[in-house]
Amino acid sequence: MSETTAREPVPVTVLTGYLGAGKTTLLNRILTENHGRKFAVVINEFGELGVDNDLVVDADEEVFEMNNGCICCTVRGDLIRILGGLMKRREKFDGIIVETTGLADPAPVAQTFFVDEDVKRATKLDAIVTVVDAKHLPARLADSSEAQEQIAFADIVVLNKMDLVTAEEAAEVERRIRAINPYAEIRRATKSDVPIEAVIGRDAFNLSRILEREPEFLSGEDDHEHDSEVNSVAFEVERPIDPERFNAWITQVLASKGQDLLRTKGVLYYENDSRRFAFQAVHMIADGDFIGEVKAGDPRRSKIVFIGRDLNRPWLRKGFEACQAGEDEARIQAEIARWTPPPG
Ligand SMILES: [Zn+2]
Repeated sequence: MSETTAREPVPVTVLTGYLGAGKTTLLNRILTENHGRKFAVVINEFGELGVDNDLVVDADEEVFEMNNGCICCTVRGDLIRILGGLMKRREKFDGIIVETTGLADPAPVAQTFFVDEDVKRATKLDAIVTVVDAKHLPARLADSSEAQEQIAFADIVVLNKMDLVTAEEAAEVERRIRAINPYAEIRRATKSDVPIEAVIGRDAFNLSRILEREPEFLSGEDDHEHDSEVNSVAFEVERPIDPERFNAWITQVLASKGQDLLRTKGVLYYENDSRRFAFQAVHMIADGDFIGEVKAGDPRRSKIVFIGRDLNRPWLRKGFEACQAGEDEARIQAEIARWTPPPG
C-alpha cells in the first residue's frame, strides 16, 4: 500500500461509457498492470444476470457487483452503503473504481460524492473516465442521450476501437466529442490500451466546470429517465456448449437482429474444454477469447446476456439452449423454426 494515509480522502475513479465500449477491458488492464496500487472495485451491470464479474480478472481486489438496478438512479442508495462499508477497511486499498452500466448517466453517480456527507468527507472524485466506441459513436449519439451525457461529463475520454475506424472516421468522431465537451482529454486506444497513469491518479475532476454545465449539480436532484425501449434478457444453461452450434446460431442471431442488439456478452463452457470462453458483441461486430481455466469446484454454467430493443426472449432462449452439446439436431431445428420471428 502506498503512502496515502488513512486520513486522506480516497481517490475515486468513475469508469463509464456506453454498452460494449470497452469499460471492463480497461478495468482489467488497471487491475492487472504492475503499478503497486490496490483498488476496491464496484461494478454496476445492466441486465438480470451478472457477466462482468466473470470477465474481470481474478485480481485479489475487493470487487462488489451490483446488478439489481442502476447506480445513477434506482440503486444510488446502495452505492452510498457500499462506499460506507469500504471506508471501514480504508487501509486495504489506495483507490476506488466505480464501473457504471453502459446506460448510466454519470452526473448522478458523481453527485453521490458531493451530496452524502460521509462519502464527501472520506472520498475525492479523481476523474470521470468515459470509454467511447469510435466505430459506433455516431449511431449512439443519434439514439442515446446517455451516450451524450457520458461524454459531456468526462474528464478523460478513452477513444477506443481505433482498429475499427479509418483516420477520417476517427477525426470526425473526435470532432463530435469536442463539440459536446471541449475540455476533456482524449486518448486514442485499441482494446482500451491506454497507459494507466492516463486514467488513474489524475486529480482531473473539475467541480466548477461541472457547475457551469449543470448549476443544480450539488442539489442532488436528478430526474433523468432511461430509454425504456432498451431491455435485457439473460439465459444460463447447465450442460457444456457445442462451439460449432453456438457459432452457427450466434452468427445467425447477429445477422438477423444485430441492428437491435446493442450489446451481447457471455461466458461459455465448451464441451471437452477446461477453459472459459468470453463472447462479446456490439451490434454485428463480435469478438471472443478464452479467459483462463475453470476453477475447481466452480459451476460450469454458461450464460449469455442480450441488451437491446425488441428482444424476442423465447426465440433467443430456445436458440441458446439448443447450443448445448448432445442436443438432438432435428429437435433443435424444429424448435428454432417454431420461434423464429418473421423476417422484417
Ligand atoms: Zn440510471
